[in-house]
Amino acid sequence: MSDKVKIAYFDFASCEGCQIEMTNFGDAAFLELLNHVEVVEFREAMSEKTTQRINISFIEGSFTRESDRKRLEDIRNRSDIVIAYGACAATGGINALKNHQSDYKQDVYGKDADMPHLESTFALPVSAAIKVDYSLNGCPMDRNEFIRVVSHLVHGKQPVIPNYPVCVECKMNETVCRYELGDHCLGMVARAGCGAPCPADGIPCEACRGFVDNPNEESLITTLMEKGGLSRERAEARSRMFAANCRADAPHKIETPNK
Ligand code: SF4
Ligand code: SF4
Ligand code: SF4
Repeated sequence: MSDKVKIAYFDFASCEGCQIEMTNFGDAAFLELLNHVEVVEFREAMSEKTTQRINISFIEGSFTRESDRKRLEDIRNRSDIVIAYGACAATGGINALKNHQSDYKQDVYGKDADMPHLESTFALPVSAAIKVDYSLNGCPMDRNEFIRVVSHLVHGKQPVIPNYPVCVECKMNETVCRYELGDHCLGMVARAGCGAPCPADGIPCEACRGFVDNPNEESLITTLMEKGGLSRERAEARSRMFAANCRADAPHKIETPNK
């Protein structure tokens, strides 16, 4: 029997982009990691499934229907470590936009809105249903962070997920601030760990990794309006796009694992 660390991937309400991101992964550091782990379930890439004990389970997607709770609990019970994988699982991600709207089902599906297969309520992080040990944030999750976190776990070390803003990494890159260029940006409240690639590529940070703990939302909105030139409505909308559940007015505030 292999003594490698057994890992498995599971998906819930998501676009499955985080899993696809894994299948595109040919970096040398990732291939080296495969010498230490054994993938025992990964629907995007293999047909085998497991009912056995799993060392690390990666869960992609939001918890958005009560009928998923039992499957999530089963994964939790069979896993030593559970990692919420990508924004949908970590914070509710872009799915959580609907949490701020009342008639989204009728708007999208019209008269079919009540059909059983469309069962869905609030889009919540996986941590709303089961205990989550760590979150890999981002839409999609960040490959380098994946390698770092899994490498730490394989070697018995405690991974640390940053709780400082993207601006820190942006400054370390010596990128010119978007505000200096007449643009807007959410980097001052976005959780770092991605290396600030978006401002470096000339586009604003959209906080796809969610917010740092205790973000100053009032200052964020004021800055987006006064320095970024956005209307209040647009500033509110931009700040919710990937971080709807991180906002203070979210119907279900999230709890951040990694502590
Ligand atoms: S976090 Fe983004 S890429 Fe990953 S599953 Fe959700 S929507 Fe798709
Ligand atoms: S561009 Fe964005 S992330 Fe970079 S320093 Fe400015 S506000 Fe911060
Ligand atoms: S810079 Fe912002 S939007 Fe871009 S990957 Fe990082 S957190 Fe996400």
